[in-house]
Amino acid sequence: MKSFFYNVWTIYSIFILIIASSAFAIYYLIEMGNNQIILIDEKISSINSDIKSIAENLASTTERLQGNITQTYSDLSLALGNERKNVDEIEALLGIYKQEVGDITGTVTNLEKLSKTDPELLQKYSKVFFLNEHYAPARLVEIPDNYEYFESKHSKISSQVWPYLESMLKNSGLEIYVYSAYRSFDEQNALKGQYAVIYGEGTANQFSADQGYSEHQLGTTVDLITTGISGVLEDFGGTNAYQWLLNNAYKYGFVLSYPDNNDYYVYEPWHWRFVGVKLATDLHNSGKSFYDLTQREIDEYLINLFE
Ligand SMILES: [Zn+2]
Repeated sequence: MKSFFYNVWTIYSIFILIIASSAFAIYYLIEMGNNQIILIDEKISSINSDIKSIAENLASTTERLQGNITQTYSDLSLALGNERKNVDEIEALLGIYKQEVGDITGTVTNLEKLSKTDPELLQKYSKVFFLNEHYAPARLVEIPDNYEYFESKHSKISSQVWPYLESMLKNSGLEIYVYSAYRSFDEQNALKGQYAVIYGEGTANQFSADQGYSEHQLGTTVDLITTGISGVLEDFGGTNAYQWLLNNAYKYGFVLSYPDNNDYYVYEPWHWRFVGVKLATDLHNSGKSFYDLTQREIDEYLINLFE
């Protein structure tokens, strides 16, 4: 019986011991686990704190960089604005400078042109105001035979005026010929003498053109004629050629010095003077004749005479 109890006790003790050991072991394991969890928690919170500090750093760095960029951008914009202003000012100055240089160049060119243009070429002549008897045009050229009414005459005209006359005669498409062009003082005198012999002094003075005489001496004036009127200048006013000239001669710089019903001189439909395209056009458009203008008004056109 004793051994039975002994055995029971022993088994019981062992059982208790096992339970106690197990409980301890379980307790120990739980404790260990808790410790590990605490450690992991600590690590996690440390990592979280690191992440937070990195994020904070990143945010502050980003903010700082953005600030710098904004500042730099605004500095650059300001600098660019200033540069633009400077460029604008320089351009404005350059514009003024160019304008001034242009004005000066224009003035010099105009003075040069004026100094090269013979003022006599746009001078008004009258029965009391003649061109000096010693005056001779700067350069004369011979008019080609095919434009001469008298083929062997070899009339001369100012070399500067000839190109205008040639285009006018060519473009008319009509048979318009040069009856007379440049006449020197001596030639004119001789001609007047002939007329005086033929018609008597009074009539010769009337149509041998005291005024027109000076214009012929300039080398810029021509008497024109066409076929079908037997060489009678006075009949030129009734021809198609004359009508064409009335409507078109101004485009080539020619005007009729003494139109029908003018206040100054007898009507000379054949007598055409070169005054430059600009003046001729203005006269044509205003319905005025060369001698209607004052000399001061005419002189304004001297600079454009050969344009
Ligand atoms: Zn004439």
